Amino acid sequence: MQDHLDRLEHALMAGRINRRGFIRAAAAAGLAGSSLHALADELDAVRANQAERAKNLQAAYDYIVVGTGSAGSALVGRLAVARPDASILVLEAGDWDTAPSIHDPSVWFTNLGTERDWKDVAIPSSGTNNRAIPEHMGRVVGGGSSINATIWARPFKDDLEHWAAESGDKAWGYEHGLSIYRRMENWQGKPDARYRGQGGPVWCQPAANPHPLAPAMLAACKSLGMPILDDLNGAREEGSGGFALMNQIIRDGRRQSMARSYLYPVLGRKNVTLLVNTHVDRLTFAGTKVTGVELAGAAGPRRIQAKTEVILSSGGINTPKLLMLSGIGDDAQLRSHGIKTLVNAPEVGQNFQDHLLHGGCLWEPQEHIPHRNSAANASGFLKSQAGLASPDVNLVQIEIPYASDVVGKRYAPPNTSWALCSGLVAPKSRGELRLRSANPADRPIVDARFLSHPDDVKALAYGIEVAREIGNSAAMRDFVKREVAPGKKLTGKDMEDFVRDGATTYFHQAGTCRMGKDSKAVVDAKLRVNGVQNLRIADSSIMPRIASVATMASCALIGERMAEILTA
Ligand SMILES: Cc1cc2nc3c(=O)[nH]c(=O)nc-3n(C[C@H](O)[C@H](O)[C@H](O)COP(=O)(O)OP(=O)(O)OC[C@H]3O[C@@H](n4cnc5c(N)ncnc54)[C@H](O)[C@@H]3O)c2cc1C
Repeated sequence: MQDHLDRLEHALMAGRINRRGFIRAAAAAGLAGSSLHALADELDAVRANQAERAKNLQAAYDYIVVGTGSAGSALVGRLAVARPDASILVLEAGDWDTAPSIHDPSVWFTNLGTERDWKDVAIPSSGTNNRAIPEHMGRVVGGGSSINATIWARPFKDDLEHWAAESGDKAWGYEHGLSIYRRMENWQGKPDARYRGQGGPVWCQPAANPHPLAPAMLAACKSLGMPILDDLNGAREEGSGGFALMNQIIRDGRRQSMARSYLYPVLGRKNVTLLVNTHVDRLTFAGTKVTGVELAGAAGPRRIQAKTEVILSSGGINTPKLLMLSGIGDDAQLRSHGIKTLVNAPEVGQNFQDHLLHGGCLWEPQEHIPHRNSAANASGFLKSQAGLASPDVNLVQIEIPYASDVVGKRYAPPNTSWALCSGLVAPKSRGELRLRSANPADRPIVDARFLSHPDDVKALAYGIEVAREIGNSAAMRDFVKREVAPGKKLTGKDMEDFVRDGATTYFHQAGTCRMGKDSKAVVDAKLRVNGVQNLRIADSSIMPRIASVATMASCALIGERMAEILTA
């Protein structure tokens, strides 16, 4: 049924069928209901309007937004409504988000390695025992929010207070952030007037009909004296950690990406033009003033002007790449590629951070129960050391045999296995991005330097010990035939190697265009790029320190803040 709806949606957006054809075919397939009519109306309006807009492409727009990911979608959704007088051109390198594997959260991982993925890989380093680590990112309308694991996790209070201190602007702090989340959310769990919103565009719900492993894990945590929370967002953000069912952006079994939440509702408006399959190669300038963008095109480069500003929402790897290709970056590096330096900004591409997910601690079940939702339904946060301001470890229960290349090969988990993974959410290691060449089609070099800081190894090792304690506890016995990996307590070099061999990432690239109040920072508190005019950044790259949770909700917050700043 779901599959059929996805195919119809694809056909409607491609213009192969019209609204009437959509409704007729859906009814013939036994699909009916007013929500179907509403979906057909919205998609048809979007398709017709965007076809019209593309036909009447202008030489200049008030705003140009590059990227439709978690932040870009939130920004455009808000800006288009607040400024109906302003024309907005939105440019997306990927295609429309109509592939069935996007809508069905249970197969999110099948998008990886396809045309909907930028397919970056961090170069080998000693921290990961010289393994190259994949760094997937969404290349499609919705960006990461269209291919990710659908987990809606809001930053800790400490994360936002840090951003406020670094930027020197209280508007980046926790209380203001909380007020934005209240207006963003359409929360389906227990109402909570202080922490949760119910009238906003972002549908989020506690994992529906979770896999039996999820409540069993929570019972196990409770039996071991760990705090169990009502909600994995809300009050958790102010606390020291705890476990609960996760929040997910899944509605009636379908993903509600940030594009579906924010962008689609404004794509029927005359002031918004979205061009898909359109790669921005460089920015254009008059002196140090940004005048627009240069697009890749089969018939040679094409330019479009921005009358007011360009906003980069291209993500933690592509935004610094675009700056460097445009002459904003480290002078020596730019010159080595024959790029003329416009602004010597050595921090562009520095401060690279990502969360590490250890794959993993694995168990073979007595009986296989297929995974539900996005295969991860319960999780928790804990501190690896008592003195920390906020948790640095995230334990994630995963209902499939999640393992790194090396761990998978060494332990050969049966394909019915489940995992309890230790995650590092407050990394101290920092990496960098470098251009491979001056050719916009080349991917940059991701020198992540994961686990180069010894505390990161210790934190993941701590998480592994707690994961084993939970997985091997009495409350999990019904789900365990045997522990597959690591199978015994590890110490010393054995544990260190298990950590380094098992390290993979959550794909939360951040920090490469740091926001700060000092002159070396790439953007200031209003997200203006230092050294040039008419250019801002709104995406994961501006985080001075990566939020200690999965990053989609933090990026949506950044998009909301950008709209607030532009319309203040
Ligand atoms: C596989 C995977 C699983 C994840 N799971 C979760 C999860 O469950 N929960 C969670 O909170 N987070 C998750 N994340 C992370 C989260 O999705 C990202 O952190 C978030 O989407 C980043 O938002 P952003 O706005 O910075 O950029 P993105 O969402 O990456 O959007 C950037 C957009 O810009 C476009 N673009 C880039 N360069 C150009 C260019 N030159 N020209 C035109 N367009 C361009 C891209 O195609 C993309 O659409 C996951 C990510 C991945 C990849």
